Amino acid sequence: MPTALAKKSYSIPSDLFEYLAEVSIREHPLLTELREETAQLPNSGMQISPEQGQLMRLLLQLMNAKRTVEVGVFTGYSCLVTALALPDEGKVLACDVSEEYTAIGKKYFERAGVSAKIDLRIAPALETLAETIKSEESGSFDFAFIDADKANVSNYVDLCAKLVRPGGLIVVDNVLWSGAVYGDATDEDTIALRAFNASIASDPRFESQILPLSDGLALLYVR
Ligand code: CA
Repeated sequence: MPTALAKKSYSIPSDLFEYLAEVSIREHPLLTELREETAQLPNSGMQISPEQGQLMRLLLQLMNAKRTVEVGVFTGYSCLVTALALPDEGKVLACDVSEEYTAIGKKYFERAGVSAKIDLRIAPALETLAETIKSEESGSFDFAFIDADKANVSNYVDLCAKLVRPGGLIVVDNVLWSGAVYGDATDEDTIALRAFNASIASDPRFESQILPLSDGLALLYVR
């Protein structure tokens, strides 16, 4: 049984959280191994938590997703979650700028037998997304997961809103930013996330919910 693992969770006492993880988390052994390898890295906090991954899997299965886009791959945990949840013909368009970190994920994609489902593009995601829209693939994706540089969060959402079909879902990580979004921090990332959070409830493109899971997960259902 994997131990619990979230970097942070809001308003749940840690012993209750551990109980919750123990009774609810079921993690593929390769995901556990990848998470443990990533934990050795100095910036391992960039990896999503197992409970986030499990929720993503549930959502992907619930909506019968076949084609997804991921903005920010890091060492590949969420990408592996997604590829494992998709049917054989499923495809993940995975965007990241780091050869080094994604190389860690690639080993696990191979071992899990899901490499053929993952189209990894090493380039700025804004470029990859814009090119994909230009190639008239708008509305052809079921699901998008955004977990990259926070300063561009609204730009990524705008592009993914064009790629994802009506009835599809966009999921955005770290929207609570360790609570900084309601403080007075004025760095670029916090300002961008604060503006994004303030805009989504009234955004006519979406029906939305922010879950206080790990560092905050925004779910945007595309109308
Ligand atoms: Ca994240």
